[in-house]
Amino acid sequence: LTQILLTLERASNMRTLPIQLSDTQYNVMIGSQLLEQAGALISPILSQKKVFIIADENVAALHLQTLTDSLSHAQIHYETILIPPGENTKSFKHFERVINQLLEKNIERKTPIIALGGGVTGDLSGFAAASVLRGVPFIQIPTTLLSQVDSSVGGKTGINTSIGKNLVGAFYQPQIVIADTQTLDTLPHRELVAGYAEIVKAGLIDDPELFQWCEENGQKILSKDHQYIDEAVERACAFKARIIKNDEFEQSSKGRNLLNLGHSLGHTLEAELEYDGRILHGEAVALGCCLIFKLCTRLGLCPSEDTSRVLKHFKSVGLPTSIKDLNSPMKATNLLRHLQHDKKVKDGKLLFILVNGIGKTFTSQEVNEKDLYKLLIEDGC
Ligand code: NAD
Ligand code: MG
Repeated sequence: LTQILLTLERASNMRTLPIQLSDTQYNVMIGSQLLEQAGALISPILSQKKVFIIADENVAALHLQTLTDSLSHAQIHYETILIPPGENTKSFKHFERVINQLLEKNIERKTPIIALGGGVTGDLSGFAAASVLRGVPFIQIPTTLLSQVDSSVGGKTGINTSIGKNLVGAFYQPQIVIADTQTLDTLPHRELVAGYAEIVKAGLIDDPELFQWCEENGQKILSKDHQYIDEAVERACAFKARIIKNDEFEQSSKGRNLLNLGHSLGHTLEAELEYDGRILHGEAVALGCCLIFKLCTRLGLCPSEDTSRVLKHFKSVGLPTSIKDLNSPMKATNLLRHLQHDKKVKDGKLLFILVNGIGKTFTSQEVNEKDLYKLLIEDGC
């Protein structure tokens, strides 16, 4: 059987990456035109020939038909729930709407929910899957680069609150992730670049070879060369799998926490710009990483050559590397205020991911507000 699977994989250029956790295991399938095969791919894990699809409207207009054709072909019944695109959909309001629709359409304990869309769809649908009837099976079909390399793998699901981002949710693992890299052909370039930032971030955390590979091949990924996109998705998912394997529930200071490199500052920028599209999550992460490298160089923790290399690479693909690049006036005091609502607060002190260089991250609770304030002012606040 393994031989047959291998032959199939080679014929269809599909890569399979197993995610091994303490009491569950699932596969991330990566490749072109997998949506056409989705019915066949999920059939073996269904205990009922029925699914609910939750899709964002943009994605539904482009890719829903391909998915439903493949489900019909595999004799799987489906119901569809559409959600509006955008970060504001990760809200109590839409969560309630989705749950009510699932219940009105008589979802059962064994009926899987398929998320078809980017990270917004995956996070909201995953939380709905974790909550409705106390949990139904969940399948991720990510359609943005960001969701293929990051949010669809690892089991973090949730919504935003008026106090801050991702503050309500659950750890809830999918049963399979199908990353059809061909769906990225319709993704706007700016979204592709934002997703790419999370791949670079993975390299910066503890995989200098991945960072170097990005320096060499980033342009090929961003020009949608499928061979390179597939490899990038596989490398980034393998990196994430390695980190979450040892720290599924973010309990260790050296585990999942490190994935948040650039995220505390990134989230404050997103919060300040009110999630209205002026800054995308990946852009905020890129800028957040740059700020951390700059801070660490100032503090004498990180060689300035490493920081220059990081800034140079982000800049070369058009990502923001300084607050000035945002073209929106920012107040340092406002940014610092948002930081107080960060999830990564322990004993009242903010946990920062700092760097000793490319691929060398560590956590610290010793970052003081004065240093942050100075950094922000000098960076353009
Ligand atoms: P998104 O889901 O908002 O998608 C971005 C835009 O692209 C949307 O307008 C969407 O309609 C459109 N789109 C999606 N796929 C498309 C396609 N194939 N063709 C054309 N348009 C398409 O954004 P995202 O960047 O995928 O995800 C961001 C979210 O992910 C944030 O809310 C972030 O907090 C979350 N996130 C979660 C995790 C996690 O571990 N759960 C990790 C990282 C990020
Ligand atoms: Mg992220």
